[in-house]
Amino acid sequence: MAAQRTAGHRLAGQAGQPGHKYVYAFAEGNKDLKDLLGGKGANLAEMTNLGLPVPPGFTITTEACQAYLATGREPDGLAAQIADHLAALERAMGRRLGDPQDPLLVSVRSGAKFSMPGMMETVLNVGLNDRSVVGLAAQAGGGPGGAATGRDAGGAADGAGPDGAASGGGERFAWDSYRRLIQMFGKTVCEVPGEEFEHALDAAKRAKGVTSDLDLTADDLRELVGAYKKVFATHTGRDFPQDPREQLDLAIRAVFGSWNAERAVLYRRQERIPADLGTAVNVVAMVFGNLGPDSGTGVAFTRDPATGNQGIYGDYLANAQGEDVVAGIRNTVPLQELARIDRRSYDHLLDFMARLERHYRDLCDIEFTIERGKLWMLQTRVGKRTAAAAFVIAGQLVDEGLIDLDEALHRVTGAQLAQLMFPRFQLDHGIDAVATGVGASPGAASGKVVFTSARAVELAGEGEPVILVRRETNPDDLNGMIAARGILTSRGGKTSHAAVVARGMGKTCVSGADEIDVNVPQRRFTVAGQTVTEGDVVSVDGTTGKVYLGEVPVMPSEVVRYFEGDVDPERSDDALVRAVHRIMTHADARRRLAVRTNADTGADAARARRFGAEGIGLCRTEHMFLGDRRELVERLILARTDTERADALAALLPLQRADFEEIFREMAGQPVTVRLIDPPLHEFLPPLEQLAVDVAVAQERGEDVAREEALLAAVRRMHEENPMLGLRGVRLGLVIPGLFAMQVRAITEAAVTVTRAGSVARPEIMVPLVGAVQELETVRAEAEKIIAEVVGESGVEVLIGTMIEVPRAALTAGQIAEAAQFFSFGTNDLTQMGWGFSRDDVEGAFFWRYLELGIFGISPFESIDRDGVGRLVRIAAEEGRAARPDLKLGICGEHGGDPDSVHFFHDVGLDYVSCSPFRVPVARLEAGRAVVSSEGSDSR
Ligand code: ADP
Ligand code: MG
Ligand code: MG
Repeated sequence: MAAQRTAGHRLAGQAGQPGHKYVYAFAEGNKDLKDLLGGKGANLAEMTNLGLPVPPGFTITTEACQAYLATGREPDGLAAQIADHLAALERAMGRRLGDPQDPLLVSVRSGAKFSMPGMMETVLNVGLNDRSVVGLAAQAGGGPGGAATGRDAGGAADGAGPDGAASGGGERFAWDSYRRLIQMFGKTVCEVPGEEFEHALDAAKRAKGVTSDLDLTADDLRELVGAYKKVFATHTGRDFPQDPREQLDLAIRAVFGSWNAERAVLYRRQERIPADLGTAVNVVAMVFGNLGPDSGTGVAFTRDPATGNQGIYGDYLANAQGEDVVAGIRNTVPLQELARIDRRSYDHLLDFMARLERHYRDLCDIEFTIERGKLWMLQTRVGKRTAAAAFVIAGQLVDEGLIDLDEALHRVTGAQLAQLMFPRFQLDHGIDAVATGVGASPGAASGKVVFTSARAVELAGEGEPVILVRRETNPDDLNGMIAARGILTSRGGKTSHAAVVARGMGKTCVSGADEIDVNVPQRRFTVAGQTVTEGDVVSVDGTTGKVYLGEVPVMPSEVVRYFEGDVDPERSDDALVRAVHRIMTHADARRRLAVRTNADTGADAARARRFGAEGIGLCRTEHMFLGDRRELVERLILARTDTERADALAALLPLQRADFEEIFREMAGQPVTVRLIDPPLHEFLPPLEQLAVDVAVAQERGEDVAREEALLAAVRRMHEENPMLGLRGVRLGLVIPGLFAMQVRAITEAAVTVTRAGSVARPEIMVPLVGAVQELETVRAEAEKIIAEVVGESGVEVLIGTMIEVPRAALTAGQIAEAAQFFSFGTNDLTQMGWGFSRDDVEGAFFWRYLELGIFGISPFESIDRDGVGRLVRIAAEEGRAARPDLKLGICGEHGGDPDSVHFFHDVGLDYVSCSPFRVPVARLEAGRAVVSSEGSDSR
C-alpha cells in the first residue's frame, strides 16, 4: 500500500532517489503526517509547534523503515541526514551525544501510524558508556551547566526506600541509567534473553541482602554494570558498544526491525493493520524522572476513557523513569496527588491538557516526565476509549462548542452502539477476574461449565444455562456452541474457530484465556490455583475478555431500555442515554437510507418499530406452514387430485390471513415486504430416516400405514442432494399450483381488512429465488388477477417485486426490472451462490483458516464482499434503475445491519436496508454516518 499523505510536503524527490528527505526535526512535522512520521512523531511535532515543552528531537520516516526492511540496509543519504539532525540537536542542547564531561543522552522510540501498544521497542539512555557515565554522575550530582542541575538527587520519594548512595545521588543515578541502557539495548538490539539480566540483578540484590532495586547503592550498580557487560559479551560475542553514534545507529536499526517481530506481525493481523506501513523512529533528548523526589513520571487522560466523565485521570510515580510505570515495579499514585507533590508542575500539566484537548478537539492521553520540578511532555495522542465514553465525549464536545453534530456522528460507530446494546455484568460487582482472554464476541454470560458438545446439549436441554469450555473449538463442537450461553477457550485469538463461529451466532465468547489450563478428559480446568469442574458456575464477558468464577449479576443495557421507550432521554440523568439520543436524532435527520426490519411476527414488528424501523423489509412466511399447520402441508403434498389440493390450501388461507393482519396492524402506514414461501418443501416434512423407521415399526405391528407410506414415498421422491440449490422459492411456486396464489390472496385480503378497519396496510409481495424474468412474469400474471379481484374499491395498493439473490438475476436485472416494482437484495444467498459455498457447511469448516491466511479480511457473511458480491449488487441496481427509474431498491440480508455494508449500500444508492430488530439502531446510525463521511470535511 502506498503511503498516502498530504500533497506538497515532499521536499525532495521520490523515496530512494538522491536527496530524498528521511529525517524531520520535530519543528518540521505536524499531526497530519502520521503516515510518514508515525503517530508518536506526528504528535510530538504538533506539541512542539504548539509551544509545549517537548524535549528536542527528530523523526526518521516510515519510508526509511520501508526501505530498510526491503533491502536490509539504510537508504542512501539517511546516515548523513541523521548526522545533520543530531548535530542540530546537540547545538540546541549545548551538549554532545555521549560527551565524557557532560553527555547528551537520547531515547530511540518506535512509533507507527497506528498505535500498537507494547508491540514495538524503545531504548532509553543511548549515549552512555564507560566514560560518559562519569560525566553524567557529575552533572546530576549538582555540577553547573547541564540540564540535570539543581538540588541534590539523593533520597527516593514517598519513603520507597533510602537511596543509600554513599557516593552521592548523582552517581547512583548515572550507574542505574547505564545498567538500564545495557539491559534494554541488549534485549532489543542484540536479542540477549531478558532473564539473563534479571538473574544478574537478583544476584546483586541477594548478595546485598535487599529486595528492592532502590536499595542498591552506586557501588552495587557499578558492579552490576560489570555483570551486565559480561552477559552482553557472552551472548553477542562482542563488547557493549562504547561509540555513542554506533549505539544510536544500532538502536535505530533494531526499531526498524521490530516492525517484523513475531508478536507485532500477529497483532497487526488481528487488528487488520496493513503489514507494509513500517514504523517511524523518534530520537528524543532524554529527560530524567529518576533524579530524586522532585522528579517523576506519569500518564494522564483529559477525560475518563472508561466513562467519558470530565475530571483528572492518570497515574504518577515519583523518582522514576517511564518504563517503571509500565513495568509496575512500584505502585503509582493517582494524578491528583501531584498537586500536593509539585503544585507548579501540576498546574502546568492541567493547562497543557486543556490546551491539547481544545487543539485536538478530543480526548487526549499524555505521557509526561518531571525532571527536578520541570515538566516535559513526552507523548500525546487522541486516546482510546470505551464505547460508552465515545458517545458521552462526543456529546460533551458538542456542548462545549468544540465540534458540531456531524463530527460527533462521525466519531461514534455502529460497532460501539452494538456493544452498548448487549447485556453486561453489573458494574460494581466486586468480583475479581481470574483470567483475561480476547473479547471475541461481545455480551455477558453466566452458566455451568461443560467440556463437551454432547454435555452442553444435554444440560441445556434440561434448561440449564451452560458455558462451553474448550482449549479451542472445532467443527465438532458446533452443536455445543449453539446450546451454550457462552464459550470460553484457552487458545486462539479473534480469528480462531470459536471466535468466528460465535460472532456469526451472536453468542458471547472469550477466546485465548491462556491462564486457564483445560483438561477435557478429566472434565476440569485450573486457573489461579483453583480447580473448576463440570457443573461449577463461571461468568464470561465477551466484551472485555474477562473470566469470573461464580455467577456475576447481568443487567440489561440502559441504551436498549432507551430504545424500548422505557427511559425518557430528556430527563435521564444517565449521560450516556442523553448522548446516544442526541446523536441518533442527528443520524436520523441526516440519513438518506430508510431502515426497515426483518420481522416475521407482530411482536417482532412492534419491537423493531420502537427501535425505529420504518417498515418491514423481509417478512418470511415459512413459520406459517409449521407447528399445527404441518398436517395441512402434508395434505397439500400428498394431494392426488385438484380438489384435495384446493381443500388443503383453503384450510391454510384463513390461518395465514390472520397472521398477516397482525403484522399489517403493527406496521400500520409502513411498507411490509412479504416473501412468498422460500425453502425446499421437504423442510416441512418429517426427516426421511425417522419416517422410514416409524413405517417399519408400524408395519411390524400390523397397523394401517397407508398414509405414512404415501408420505414416505413423497419424502423419498423429494429428497435432494443440494436442497439449497433445489426445488425452492419461485420454482416451488410454479410447480405446486395454487400455493403462491393462496399466499397472495391471504396477503391482499388481510391488507384490505386492516385498511377497512382504519389502518393503512402497504403490502409488497416478494418472489424469492428468481433467476429469469419469465419466472417472475408468470407469477405476476396470476398474482395481479387475484389482487385486482380482492382489492376492489378498498384503495389498497399492492406492489410486486423480487429478491435478487441468484447471480443470474443480478446480471439480467435490466430484464427483470420490467416485471418488478422493487428489488430486494438477498445478500446471504447472493454471497452463498456468488462464492459457491453454503454457509452452514463452511463457516465452521474452513473460515477460520481463510481468516488466518488473510484470504478473507472478514467473513463475507458478516460484511459484504464489496469486490465480488457487492459488484453484483451494483450492476443490478444500475441496470434495474436504468430500465425502471422508479424501481425501489432495498437489501434484506444480514448485511443490512453491518456497519461497513450499510456504507456500501448507501454508496450504491439503495433506498433502504433491512435488518434484524436489534440491529435497527445500528443501521440508523451508520446510515447517518455514511452521509457525513461521503460529504467529508477538511476537519476530519
Ligand atoms: P511506548 O510507545 O511503548 O509508550 P515510548 O517510546 O513512549 O514507548 O517510551 C517508553 C517509555 O519511556 C515511556 O514511558 C516514555 O515516556 C519514556 N521515554 C521515552 N523517551 C523518553 C525521553 N526522551 N526522556 C524520558 N523518558 C522517555
Ligand atoms: Mg509511550
Ligand atoms: Mg434466500
